[in-house]
Amino acid sequence: RSKTLFDAAQQVIPGGVNSPARAFGPVGGDPLFIVKGEGARIVDADGKSYIDFVGSWGPLILGHAHPEIVAAVNAVVAEGTSFGAPTEIEVKMAQLVTEIVPSVEMVRMVNSGTEATMSAIRLARGHTGRDKIVKFEGCWHGHADSFLIQAGSSALTMGAPSSPGVTPGTAADSITVPFNDLEAVEKAVVENRDKIAAVIVEPVAGNMGVIPPAPDFLQGLRDVTAEMGIVLIFDEVITGFRVSPGGAQELYGVTPDLTTLGKIIGGGLPVGAFGGKREIMSDISPLGKMVSQAGTLSGNPLAMTAGYETLKRLQVPGVYDALEAKAQALETGILENLKALGLKYQANRVGSIMTLFFTEAPVTSFEAANACDQDLFARYFREMVNRGIYLAPSQFEAAFVSLAHSDADIDATIKANYEALKACIN
Ligand code: PMP
Repeated sequence: RSKTLFDAAQQVIPGGVNSPARAFGPVGGDPLFIVKGEGARIVDADGKSYIDFVGSWGPLILGHAHPEIVAAVNAVVAEGTSFGAPTEIEVKMAQLVTEIVPSVEMVRMVNSGTEATMSAIRLARGHTGRDKIVKFEGCWHGHADSFLIQAGSSALTMGAPSSPGVTPGTAADSITVPFNDLEAVEKAVVENRDKIAAVIVEPVAGNMGVIPPAPDFLQGLRDVTAEMGIVLIFDEVITGFRVSPGGAQELYGVTPDLTTLGKIIGGGLPVGAFGGKREIMSDISPLGKMVSQAGTLSGNPLAMTAGYETLKRLQVPGVYDALEAKAQALETGILENLKALGLKYQANRVGSIMTLFFTEAPVTSFEAANACDQDLFARYFREMVNRGIYLAPSQFEAAFVSLAHSDADIDATIKANYEALKACIN
């Protein structure tokens, strides 16, 4: 049935998918069509059930169709889904986010992570009166033009567009440097003195597989940006409300000027947000320098309710310890499997996000991640799917552990991992 649906989809949807990461390009075969989710499990169009480690790519930290979230959304939907006028839930949401995320004094709601990052760099540019931004190789900030830029040949030259449709003019304003390379950042900043509006980083990289920041990397970014009058943006679309209640900035104790949020903040509905220092946020229209930013459905009550109710449930004491215990058990099991099979592949984990890299050298950079054996990953992926474990169909993604994963789910996954690895090496 998945195959029939995919054939039909390809006739009318480019590539048969509404976001390319869903196509099984890197692993081969056709994507599974999903008909329902419950807790840690999803069911495909052929009725097969899987333990899910994609979780809609991060939002579903409470699991699929959490009964209390469903009930809250159901209660709101009957009252009207959007008014384009202020509602009380937006105030409650903003108050909650400013309480939870250390650096956020004011916050604007948008509808996706892409909108959040795109708006944040416009704000940084408007606020500083500068044009250029610095970003990192292998970090993904959504699909706004400024972020679709490759590193130049010497990683410090101006970037080249990495997608048709991005103009050389836009590319010229984005400087790409290697992740975890503070010296490269310092060099770029000095060479472009008074021209750089923002440095944007995933404080834990999640889009080249999980790569934690090197010790002092984030603090180093904080120091150099503060010294040069540059806005430091942490893109916490993945890490926000996940690696700790207040995200990576709380976990590592480094305070950015602006933070972009997405995924968990919408509880599975389309939400993003950007926030930060009052002084900077006060330059957004209708205030201050009137930096433009708007949205018809931004802050709509349906999405705000799903997000608010999700964040509320994450405030319960012990929740993050429980999540850590589950993720740690999974990591430990996988490491034991690797050892038992005499394999030296690398597992990187920060809290409930984790990647098993099919390479033997430690993965601390985009270059190191790229050394992975992607054919082997593809084989592993298929072996796991055959055993009822649904992973992201790419080596360069995180596995998301949720609060809905039971001990039995984790044990079953560890067992499948052993068998899949064994099948891969035979
Ligand atoms: N930033 C990061 C760190 C992300 O992981 C993503 C999406 N995976 C985005 C931004 C873009 O978010 P969205 O897909 O909601 O536009």
